[in-house]
Amino acid sequence: MNKHVLIAGGGIGGMGLAVALTRAGLNVDLLEQTPEFSEVGAGIQLGPNAVRVLSDWGLSNALQAVAAFPDRLRVRDAHEGTVLGELPLSERARLKYGQPYATIHRADALQVLLQAAQAEPRVTLHLKERLRSVHELPDGVSVLTETGHTHVADALIGCDGLWSVVRRHVMAGPAGLLPDADPPLDIPPRFSGHIAYRGMVAQADLPDSLRTQSVTAWLGAKLHVVQYPVRRGELVNVVAVVEGRQLGNPQGWTHDANRAELLQAIGPVHPQLRDLLEAVTSWKQWPLNDRPPMTGPYEHAQGRVALAGDAAHPMRPYLAQGAAMALEDAWTLGRLVQRALAADSAGPIPWVDLFQRYARGRWQRNARVQANSISNGKVFHADGFLRMGRDVALSLMGDTLMDKPWLYSGPPDVV
Ligand SMILES: Cc1cc2nc3c(=O)[nH]c(=O)nc-3n(C[C@H](O)[C@H](O)[C@H](O)COP(=O)(O)OP(=O)(O)OC[C@H]3O[C@@H](n4cnc5c(N)ncnc54)[C@H](O)[C@@H]3O)c2cc1C
Repeated sequence: MNKHVLIAGGGIGGMGLAVALTRAGLNVDLLEQTPEFSEVGAGIQLGPNAVRVLSDWGLSNALQAVAAFPDRLRVRDAHEGTVLGELPLSERARLKYGQPYATIHRADALQVLLQAAQAEPRVTLHLKERLRSVHELPDGVSVLTETGHTHVADALIGCDGLWSVVRRHVMAGPAGLLPDADPPLDIPPRFSGHIAYRGMVAQADLPDSLRTQSVTAWLGAKLHVVQYPVRRGELVNVVAVVEGRQLGNPQGWTHDANRAELLQAIGPVHPQLRDLLEAVTSWKQWPLNDRPPMTGPYEHAQGRVALAGDAAHPMRPYLAQGAAMALEDAWTLGRLVQRALAADSAGPIPWVDLFQRYARGRWQRNARVQANSISNGKVFHADGFLRMGRDVALSLMGDTLMDKPWLYSGPPDVV
């Protein structure tokens, strides 16, 4: 009793949390709005901190089977092609952090977690269940979905992403009594002014000169492009970010884009970069939205309801750590539950206290990653003196600047 949790959202964060909580001994019902568990055709980088979480869940072999493990992170000038700085990744990351730096297709990452969750008898996965509202009960939480179903459990964790419904409840204050407060207690996500174009190409379809097993970030004025291998190195994932206006419904997340539109937005760049962009035939466009860095634990939990991943701390992708922080949140919640059950396996889990510990333990690290992601974006897109300073700094101490021990040695344990 008292060991039943609802998770809203079955993305990388929610699925990871389902694995963490069931491994800790809880029963989980996960509600996902879409008709199937799927991820968009794009890649993500998983720093050693994220890989450590997967390894702790016993998923190293599953990761090894589908991910790529790039040899280095290289920064190049998008116009001149000059190498501005380099950080060796593969062996160095293993030696320094005990875990590799991985790059993976998002669908493969979700599949690894989905299979782990499906192997757990304590998880029930519900599709086409879009959560509409949250009601806290004296000793539990009840949620209503768009299909008219009610689900009741001891606690709820919202992993429902950037446009989180659960967040509205958490930010409405104690007992959710202030959803229409004036001024509002929470503001909607904000458009960053940046648009990402994402595409993939098979290495086999590229000329030798464009094939790569490295992460390369091309930096230009008001733009950058990141490329890296995924799916055992068989595909190259390409993300091009330009500055522009938001088009269409931001909640639509993906919009088809054509290559000509991207090449026009990018303008003149180094021929090798241009060749790469031309080699990708299908592009999707994302308006990049985020929230300001978290300002306190209250953004992570309220009563028996907590938030994890983008629902709590959506960020710009310039530190490549949004999914990693969602996995770290999940890992932390799993550890706290393990500890609570180790202290008293028969008694009720003190959910309110446990969520407050989680919130206090996580918010500053998540805020730091959000803030670093914002400043990285400015540095990536710099022009003029800032660009000159950046390039000099990268040439003098590129590996020191690109390495992030405070980040990659995580997740920190929370007591
Ligand atoms: C261009 C780009 C590049 C990125 N690169 C990286 C990277 O290299 N490394 C990295 O770590 N991160 C990266 N990220 C960030 C990463 O994609 C996100 O931080 C991560 O996906 C967040 O996971 P999540 O599970 O919290 O949310 P989401 O992935 O948004 O999942 C939320 C889930 O909840 C479901 N849902 C939503 N509302 C409801 C509801 N009301 N009821 C039920 N279900 C609901 C959704 O359908 C979805 O399945 C990148 C992001 C972008 C845009």
